[in-house]
Amino acid sequence: MKGIIASEGYAVGTACVFKNEKMAICHDKIEESQVDLEIQRFTKALDIARAQIEEIGQKAGAVLEGSDADVFKAHAAITQDRSLIKKVNKAIKSERLTADNAVDTVMKKLIEKFSKMDHPLIRERTADLRDVRDRLLRVLTGAESRSLEALPPDTIIIAENLTPSDTVTMDIDHVAGIVSEIGGSTSHTAIFARSLGIPAVVGVTGAVSLIKKGQMVYLNGETGSVETELTGDELKTFQRAKEAYDANMQELFRYAEAESITKDGYHMEICANIGSFHDCGAIQKFGAEGVGLFRTEFLYMGSSDWPAEEYQFSEYKKVLEMMGNRPVIIRTFDIGGDKELPYYDFGEEDNPFLGYRAIRLCLDQPDIFKTQLRAILRASAYGHARIMYPMISSIEEIKSANEVLSAAKTELKNEGVAFDENIACGIMMETPAACILAEDIIDFVDFFSIGTNDLTQYTTAVDRGNKRLSHLSAPYHPAVLRLIKYVTDVSHKAGKWTGICGELAGMDDFTEILVGLGVDELSMSAGSVIKVRKQVIEMDAFKAKIAAKEALALKTSEAIWEYVKNRR
Ligand code: PEP
Ligand code: MG
Repeated sequence: MKGIIASEGYAVGTACVFKNEKMAICHDKIEESQVDLEIQRFTKALDIARAQIEEIGQKAGAVLEGSDADVFKAHAAITQDRSLIKKVNKAIKSERLTADNAVDTVMKKLIEKFSKMDHPLIRERTADLRDVRDRLLRVLTGAESRSLEALPPDTIIIAENLTPSDTVTMDIDHVAGIVSEIGGSTSHTAIFARSLGIPAVVGVTGAVSLIKKGQMVYLNGETGSVETELTGDELKTFQRAKEAYDANMQELFRYAEAESITKDGYHMEICANIGSFHDCGAIQKFGAEGVGLFRTEFLYMGSSDWPAEEYQFSEYKKVLEMMGNRPVIIRTFDIGGDKELPYYDFGEEDNPFLGYRAIRLCLDQPDIFKTQLRAILRASAYGHARIMYPMISSIEEIKSANEVLSAAKTELKNEGVAFDENIACGIMMETPAACILAEDIIDFVDFFSIGTNDLTQYTTAVDRGNKRLSHLSAPYHPAVLRLIKYVTDVSHKAGKWTGICGELAGMDDFTEILVGLGVDELSMSAGSVIKVRKQVIEMDAFKAKIAAKEALALKTSEAIWEYVKNRR
């Protein structure tokens, strides 16, 4: 069997097959006289589920490294989601469904809708919805809750899906590996496994029915394969690969502590991308030098209404305090496109990726934007914060955003609230327009951070989520590399700096080229930090410059790919 590598490494152990419990949902239509009763049953179930979630949320801090109960806050928010409650009540009233059937029907539709979305991080928020739906249905049907609390040593968990509630109560000391049928590389299971260093393969179709309890399982988190039987020779190969991998990892971990300096003294700042405070544990573990991109939209997506200033302030403050004097670039929310909100109707758009999103929404609704800027500014008193605007495509947008920022600063000054008055403010370079205008734009910002995911999408006119077209767009497309070079040079001429926070930053095959292009900072998923740092430490910036020049002269993505592969 094969799946998607969620957390690298090798594991051997005994299968614990963790099945979804059957819930007896009543599909009978109810009488009119029962409507109120069913609505009450639903309301009570919401209260019970929320109380359970809060209890598990408290346990979460003790189990996950550097974590708090973020994901459970999102779950609690789902139980208070006004539009969800309205829909379930309506299904009970108008369609005469039982409370359990109404919850199942309404949430199934929501889960389907989310699972079709392009952005993987959003698609995988369906895990949260599934978790809450199952909890509500367990309460409503009286089904027993499943548990992974006591496991024998060297267990390989085989599950259809692992919910955050499952992972929090899991006996992690005895888990050697995880295999799940559902999920992608940014699913909760994947993030959880990576932060604890447990090898995991997800998206393994049929694992739960094909693997039997107690069977020996060989999990290869380098190739994504999961086997239950190996021949003598295969076993020897597996063991040799496991030993080599473990030794290499031990070696790589030396780079968690090291400085990111090339042999000839060029410093490349290596930072990590985060979506919440929850990810900070991994930053410490892999030794990132800061946060190059804090995607704050997840705070908005996990709430049942626009998040209040106070709540945002406490979330940003936690991250800044945890990072000490290391810089944290807080990107103002990038909602819209495929990132929807349960409490806001974006209306129908023919091209949501080109639509009402990110800075466009912020400037159209400055009060919502100012609330976030005030929260970031207030938090800036507790660490080294930087602000970044997403999706900029004109100077006017930067000027208007800076006006809202100035207004927020003035308000806080008048209120006597402390903040970093010199807070740096930069922009994402993710539209071709911004890159082409770099020389004019640079005067209005402190730094650039190139979002190669969107920049590639908009430069090549290829939807970043369209698998059929993925061969047409690579973040190392010659047009993108040339834009990176141009933008970086422009920033340097003005005495400023440029980072990269798209996926290209974490692709260690390209580290040499990016050093050679003069990029100052790379921000990536925390797990990539050590392998990218190894590349930096082992290279010569002088040679990297020549390599970048040669790569820039190439005319196709394929030729560039061949070129970097041949240098390794
Ligand atoms: C990017 O576009 O490269 C980026 C880092 O932002 P996001 O992936 O959140 O759009
Ligand atoms: Mg982007």
